[in-house]
Amino acid sequence: MQHPLKIYNTLARRKELFVPANGVNTGMYVCGPTVYGDPHLGHARSAITFDVLFRYLMFLGYNVRYVRNITDVGHLEHDADDGDDKISKKARLEQLEPMEVAQLYANRYHRFMNDLNLLPPSIEPLASGHIIEQIALTQEILDNGYAYVSNGSVYFDVEKYNESHPYGILSGRNIDEMLSATRQLDGQDEKRRPVDFALWKKAKPEHIMRWPSPWSDGFPGWHCECTAMGRKYLGSRFDIHGGGMDLIFPHHECEIAQAAAAKDSYSVPYWMHNNMITINGQKMGKSLGNAITLEQFFKGDHPLLEQPYAPMTIRFFILQAHYRSTADFSNDALQASEKGLARLNDAWATLNSLAPAEASSADISHFTAGCANAMNDDLNTPVLISHLFDAARIINSANDQRIALSAADLSELRRCFKAYFFDILGMNNNSNSQAPSREEAFGKALDLLLNLRQQAKEAKDWATSDKIRNALAQAGFEIKDTKDGTEWKLI
Ligand code: ZN
Repeated sequence: MQHPLKIYNTLARRKELFVPANGVNTGMYVCGPTVYGDPHLGHARSAITFDVLFRYLMFLGYNVRYVRNITDVGHLEHDADDGDDKISKKARLEQLEPMEVAQLYANRYHRFMNDLNLLPPSIEPLASGHIIEQIALTQEILDNGYAYVSNGSVYFDVEKYNESHPYGILSGRNIDEMLSATRQLDGQDEKRRPVDFALWKKAKPEHIMRWPSPWSDGFPGWHCECTAMGRKYLGSRFDIHGGGMDLIFPHHECEIAQAAAAKDSYSVPYWMHNNMITINGQKMGKSLGNAITLEQFFKGDHPLLEQPYAPMTIRFFILQAHYRSTADFSNDALQASEKGLARLNDAWATLNSLAPAEASSADISHFTAGCANAMNDDLNTPVLISHLFDAARIINSANDQRIALSAADLSELRRCFKAYFFDILGMNNNSNSQAPSREEAFGKALDLLLNLRQQAKEAKDWATSDKIRNALAQAGFEIKDTKDGTEWKLI
């Protein structure tokens, strides 16, 4: 049977998406964070990958609606349909209301994503705000005969669905093997088959986050939220669905099945998955002691880190690997990224100071064509970055007067450098490689003034020393000289 679902796991296979578009509407949905802990590099990689896609599609002229959800409810372990809700667990541990936990970590997620210079998505829906839509989705699947109620919970009937739809189309998993799997899951006895997954779970008495439904007081299965919110905001046909590679199975496979079981015409042609992060060649994980949060990276506050790394260094490092390859973090690699990024920022400053020559003695056309080809080749950011380094060499040669660049070529270089380095890769040259916080900057400026005053005192330059002291007093500081040095406080 010819099924309407068409799946392309990489964008490279359908290059027509990367042609200039004049206001063509396009929709992309990306699975966002579960907000029960601080974001780490995995969050950064996924967010940055799709931020670059979002930026590039807009650069090409698409009118993009980018939906990235926040999972603030009912998120269970990947392949278990039962277990502890992570947000509720954290709420119990920290003695907070579950929504307080979700809000706290959503705020922190936004702060760190802002540091990484991510554009906010067009719509950022919360799972907890779409319970009605998830119940409606479950009801439609039940009405179409692809689900069953068991003890107040609702399960998707994978075997039934697979009779008319290809379950496994995205992940390539073999349904027969899955059906014969005998893995024991908690609550499995409610299900007809281990491979069936929950659309709705009846809540145990101790479960805090719960809502009424036709079947029980409970909560939606994790896979429901993305299907329900994706079709609500983008319709049953939209272009791109993304997320981390670990979401291919079961999450995205289940999303496809749910949407198709509810409305048979459902179709998302392009599925795009970013690969994982490793740290010093090892998988990242709490048990391995190498799950470094973004805040720890920015502050250098982890035993594995030799120094703090600025958000732009992290962003640049992530983009130096192709999104489908693993990216391995190490201090050496990050320090190399820091240097590379500084070289490109310096080249941009030099480019803006170059005076044009009568005529060019170098050809820059391969640079501009190379940048476009790299991005059109499934967002090949490492190749794009290598073209930017080539441009930096051209710029430095022009600066050393080893080559000449005409006004037209200089302006083309500036246009292209700005478009690809700043607008598309999203590098932000306002932050230097060791961007201090406002408090750090304030402390450094004050230390500088107090040191100058100390030097003036040692040189018996009382006029300068008093001048600094009086100016600080006027600004609201009380300065006290003690035998150990100078103390200050804000009054
Ligand atoms: Zn999702």
